[in-house]
Amino acid sequence: MLRHLARKLRASGPVTVAEYMREALTNPGQGYYTRRGGVGESGDFITSPEISQVFGELIGIWYISEWMAMGKPNTFQLVELGPGRGTLTDDILRVFKQLASVLSKCDVSVHLVEVSPKLSEIQAVMLTGGKVQPNPEDKSAYMKGISKTGIPIFWYRDIQDVPPGYSFYLAHEFFDALPIHKFQRTEKGWREVLVDIDPEVPDQLRFVLSPSRTPATQNFIQPEETRDHVEVCPEAGVIVERLASRIEKDGGAALVADYGHDGTKTDTFRGFRNHKPHDVLSAPGTADLTADVDFSYLRKMAQGRTATLGPIKQREFLKNMGIDLRLQVLLQNSGDTATREQLLHSYDMLMNPEKMGDCFKFFALLPHHRLVHPDKKDKPESKSPLPPVAGFNELLLK
Ligand code: SAH
Repeated sequence: MLRHLARKLRASGPVTVAEYMREALTNPGQGYYTRRGGVGESGDFITSPEISQVFGELIGIWYISEWMAMGKPNTFQLVELGPGRGTLTDDILRVFKQLASVLSKCDVSVHLVEVSPKLSEIQAVMLTGGKVQPNPEDKSAYMKGISKTGIPIFWYRDIQDVPPGYSFYLAHEFFDALPIHKFQRTEKGWREVLVDIDPEVPDQLRFVLSPSRTPATQNFIQPEETRDHVEVCPEAGVIVERLASRIEKDGGAALVADYGHDGTKTDTFRGFRNHKPHDVLSAPGTADLTADVDFSYLRKMAQGRTATLGPIKQREFLKNMGIDLRLQVLLQNSGDTATREQLLHSYDMLMNPEKMGDCFKFFALLPHHRLVHPDKKDKPESKSPLPPVAGFNELLLK
């Protein structure tokens, strides 16, 4: 990957950080996710669903609670962006099975958006026991199968390929993997940070500043911006716009969980390899590259089409969803000390403000009518109060 990049940079000059990140992560031959896919204990970084089954279970309950609040439509698609090892969807489907009596008249299907062939294979084993077929007759889905619990599952490369319809979307640690542009304020105005070859050291990369404005500095910096260093992820904006239009048109909701901020942080671009920080410019393709999600930008891109809730801290969301009660039940049901210790340890990882409790946030897109009654001027007395949205408020399942 480094040799390929060095050749490209020598031939045509520096590239944006976004182009560099896209190459390093999802280049079809050499990209990090394409080849390594590093999620999990044996990989490069660990995520909440890999730490505890409770995480996915509570998210499964969130979807059921929203499905009920929205009048129990008779069909929905669960659409996950960047499903990693498939653990989160597996935990959600287990909850759907346990609550089969509640969902009995509902036709559920699962739609996974995944670019990595390697990870889609791992997901297929996790979710279907490996019983999948390539799907050449329907070009939009590249693979299909049936979950261990009997639900049809389809795989796509792009959210645009997922068929329209009432859908619940899920993006956990997905947006942080999308390419960002980096900008720096200088005396001459905004400049874009670019990646170039270091002329002094063979095959070593370095950051440089664009000599003048770039298309991105013109399009992505807000006139009222006060920070001196800014990161913008236009691809995240485009995807959120798509999710919001789909929800506005066909109904449903989206739950986004990731580490991030509300338009305040500056330099968050970083790398991980074997659970340790890794220089973002060294050995591209061998390490996970990531940047904090700017939720204020996502909110801006959704606005008008849907309402948004959050971001709220992971520990508050999970607490509202009843994690303490779930932990108590699991502790009571487990006889051996090792399992009990493991349960307490994973609870601490998810909830401790010093660990994942504060830096991870939850954010939701919901149809406007889910939060505010459509104007019924003629019959105000017919308005019953709308049920609160779980997670962002305490869970009330009736
Ligand atoms: N949600 C999982 C995995 C997070 S890792 C978890 O929490 O454990 C990021 C995931 O997004 C991986 O599955 C990766 O292959 C996928 N991904 C990265 N860029 C993508 C893109 N542009 N389109 C679709 N999937 C992508």
